Amino acid sequence: MNKFETDLVIIGAGPVGLFSIFEAGMLKIKCHVIDSLENIGGQCTALYPEKPIYDIPAHPKILARELIENLEQQAQPFNPVYHLNQRVNGLQKIDNNNFVITTSKNNQIKCKAVIIAAGCGAFGPNRPPLENIEHYEGKSVFYAIRDKSIFKDKNVAIAGGGDSAVDWAINLSEIANKIYVIHRREKFRCAPESLDQMKKISQEGKIELVIPYQLSSLKSQNNNLSHVVVKDFDNNIKELEAQYLLPFFGLAMELGPIASWGLNLEKNHISVDPKNMQTSECGIYAIGDIATYTNKLKLILTGFSEAALAIHDIYKIIHPNELFHFEYSTSKGVAHCQ
Ligand SMILES: Cc1cc2nc3c(=O)[nH]c(=O)nc-3n(C[C@H](O)[C@H](O)[C@H](O)COP(=O)(O)OP(=O)(O)OC[C@H]3O[C@@H](n4cnc5c(N)ncnc54)[C@H](O)[C@@H]3O)c2cc1C
Repeated sequence: MNKFETDLVIIGAGPVGLFSIFEAGMLKIKCHVIDSLENIGGQCTALYPEKPIYDIPAHPKILARELIENLEQQAQPFNPVYHLNQRVNGLQKIDNNNFVITTSKNNQIKCKAVIIAAGCGAFGPNRPPLENIEHYEGKSVFYAIRDKSIFKDKNVAIAGGGDSAVDWAINLSEIANKIYVIHRREKFRCAPESLDQMKKISQEGKIELVIPYQLSSLKSQNNNLSHVVVKDFDNNIKELEAQYLLPFFGLAMELGPIASWGLNLEKNHISVDPKNMQTSECGIYAIGDIATYTNKLKLILTGFSEAALAIHDIYKIIHPNELFHFEYSTSKGVAHCQ
């Protein structure tokens, strides 16, 4: 067991957890950050790194990946300690002032306050139940796109009927040789403008809509994916020649161990007091997608504001004998806080 001690533990290194590091640093609060994923960035990194985000204030357009790079850079002066690739399994209050967090890599961190910025919980993509799919994953089957250049001049099968499937079909049709969009029914669950655009491209022949079909199996040649086999409801089979398969069936949202920490929950989200983001347990806060209250908006910008509210409340816990003076970052600067 590796033991650590710090002021604050942040569970989740998504955009909201990352911004909390900066807010904490500005108020001289040291923190450790834990994430079950290998890389920081939460949904932005895992699900849509190459997609542009348009509603981050003062960034008319920023790639999700770039947003995370900027947040990491903004947090860096405060020397956060990252524990990645490990899940928080236990959260225990050991006395009135201290908590102990335990992770799946046998790390134990003692702290005075906890922020849960765990998004949808420890999440992962919904994987289609195809035989041997694990042999192709990370090679020719991807649930998120990190480098779209690999699809240049290739045949790509995209499965799903939501925004991710449709947006990526449109986006990749610019570089791929051919795109198949496999969906089990006529109706798509995506923005109507995107659907119109995809249908227009399909009339031009670059996208082929394979409807109503669902994934049936994968075929390979020389250990590489060669065909995606699909079938309709009458078991008619089609073999689509494709070097890549991108299944976009959404996220499996699993609160996992968080559900057993005794916090008040509402439909798999943690209920908080929106004035300071505290949960039903003193010293434990929840922010970002996982937190819920009346009129909650699940947006990155909302999460940033929630981070500031939580950290300002946590200041009283970490520095109980210091009077709090509100100062703008323009007056305080960053170097002064390190
Ligand atoms: C395709 C798509 C497009 C989007 N576009 C926009 C947009 O344009 N604008 C916008 O504002 N929002 C957008 N969003 C939503 C936005 O990404 C989320 O609101 C945001 O990521 C929430 O940030 P978060 O830090 O709360 O959680 P997340 O990004 O979900 O990060 C939570 C992290 O916590 C980790 N975690 C969970 N449980 C544990 C545990 N027990 N132990 C360790 N780690 C754990 C997870 O692994 C994850 O990395 C989009 C989402 C998707 C999927």
